[in-house]
Amino acid sequence: MSEEEDVDFDVIVVGAGPAGSVAAALLARAGRQVVLIERGETPGSKNLSGGVLYGRVLDSVFPGWLDEAPVERIITRNVIIFLTETGKVAVDAVDPALGEPVNAVTVLRAKFDAWLAEQAEAEGAFLMPGVKVDELLTEKTPEGSTRVVGVRAGEDELHARVVVLADGVNSFLARQAGLRTKPRTNEQAVGVKAVIQLDEQVLQDRFGVDATHGAAHALVGECTQGVGGGGFMYTNKDSVSIGLVLRLDDLLARHQDAVSLFESFLAHPAIAPFLEGGEMVEYGSHLVNEGGLAMVGEIHGDGYVIVGDAAGLTLNTGLTVRGMDLAIGSGRCAARAIGEALDKDDVSAQALARYRQLLDSSFVGADMRTYAKAPAFLERPRMYTEYGPLLADVLHRAFDLDTAPREHLLTTARRALKNSPVKMRELVSDALAGVKAL
Ligand SMILES: Cc1cc2nc3c(=O)[nH]c(=O)nc-3n(C[C@H](O)[C@H](O)[C@H](O)COP(=O)(O)OP(=O)(O)OC[C@H]3O[C@@H](n4cnc5c(N)ncnc54)[C@H](O)[C@@H]3O)c2cc1C
Repeated sequence: MSEEEDVDFDVIVVGAGPAGSVAAALLARAGRQVVLIERGETPGSKNLSGGVLYGRVLDSVFPGWLDEAPVERIITRNVIIFLTETGKVAVDAVDPALGEPVNAVTVLRAKFDAWLAEQAEAEGAFLMPGVKVDELLTEKTPEGSTRVVGVRAGEDELHARVVVLADGVNSFLARQAGLRTKPRTNEQAVGVKAVIQLDEQVLQDRFGVDATHGAAHALVGECTQGVGGGGFMYTNKDSVSIGLVLRLDDLLARHQDAVSLFESFLAHPAIAPFLEGGEMVEYGSHLVNEGGLAMVGEIHGDGYVIVGDAAGLTLNTGLTVRGMDLAIGSGRCAARAIGEALDKDDVSAQALARYRQLLDSSFVGADMRTYAKAPAFLERPRMYTEYGPLLADVLHRAFDLDTAPREHLLTTARRALKNSPVKMRELVSDALAGVKAL
């Protein structure tokens, strides 16, 4: 098909996650003919994430969204926990200022993604749920590159001037068409997550939060039993989202399985009391990008752009896992670049390079660059094995007031370090690398 021939839509968006729905909503708002295709029976039904949305980016897309969107709790309590075999060491930051203006909220994707897709529909996008796109329709340009001209779903073919690939972490469509390569195992992690329903008042008492605010717990140490990765525990209205994110290469190398690690995590003495009496109402597993900036690569070409997870736009800093806000930010940049390209009647790779330019100069590009060294730092194994017990030992020695003469904290810390497999030079090197990376 040549560019001059009839097309069914200006833009086809594949995937009604945060990236796709926002791109579709903004393009439809600008008067474009947009179809949003989602394989799930309802948007969000197949989606999974920890659930903390750093949502300020939505203020510019849907002003007043916080009053309408199905958000669970406003996060004003952040707890960082090193789990040891039987206990924990925690930093507990309660900061009401994080609620004014609202910085982060918890969401349940089945409700939140459905709401986002509804907004795209309300702007005029045509939503097609329950349809899986099987492949991209492509043709060769006179210059020999691949031009995306539409999609095939079963027997049906749809043509458009631009296709937005918002199909999530596996990015099957782009890989199948040879537009992206398969990520390496150290660039991805497997996430296992459950939602545990609890009585609302019980939840508030256990997590020390009121009726509207919530807590986000980030965990490292024993929860992954030495495997690179960490855990999370986030409060919803009357449920807890709890999960592990485990680096694939390390999981394979250590012959561990994600499900057993997750079960041990739920039963850990510092975790089980939070969940006691709750009922598991959701359970699932999903890949997470871990490669940071290095895995982003080419994200536009003739007739297409790639957004959100499909483009590798996820950031794990150890303290926060971010993907939804970056997905929304990339959807916003894509919509603007596509709008400009359609105005100029030029959807070539050169014209759509504007997407990359907008992305790089937005908070998405800036944050991907800031945390470019985080993946390599988080590959250091001591993070997951030795630092938790070392910290616990220092604190044990500080608080264990037997009748032996006391020592200054520095001497106590030195003794604990001597007792641990961590060498002083490793501690210094990790501390410096951590300061530079995070
Ligand atoms: C365990 C875990 C914890 C996480 N925690 C957080 C967190 O707390 N905060 C945060 O911001 N991020 C978190 N993330 C990351 C976040 O979930 C993703 O970055 C985000 O969902 C990316 O949005 P997206 O729109 O790019 O892709 P997705 O949300 O994956 O959406 C892709 C959509 O495309 C659809 N689709 C796929 N293929 C096809 C096809 N062929 N045809 C039609 N439709 C298709 C899917 O059904 C889906 O609806 C977490 C991820 C995991 C796995």
